Amino acid sequence: MARFLEIDKVHEYKRRLLERQLELAAVPARGGSGTRTCVAEELDEIKHALASIENGTYGVCSRCAEPIGMIRLNAVPDTRLCVLCAFAS
Ligand SMILES: [Zn+2]
Repeated sequence: MARFLEIDKVHEYKRRLLERQLELAAVPARGGSGTRTCVAEELDEIKHALASIENGTYGVCSRCAEPIGMIRLNAVPDTRLCVLCAFAS
């Protein structure tokens, strides 16, 4: 587990990610294909975030390897990028 994140926080993010995953899974298949693509992409991000919680890399920016700020994780628990890298891309 990433040391800069408290275990309680990680559990909270995990719970939020799982809830969001259930919400997205319940999105009806009808509607524009664009909606489905967004849902599929978000589900991918959530799966990646959950996997990174399991393997201890959660909360680390996948580009610069710096810790992602708590404020950003609170806002976007499934993010892979720190705020600097997100805005640079
Ligand atoms: Zn970064």
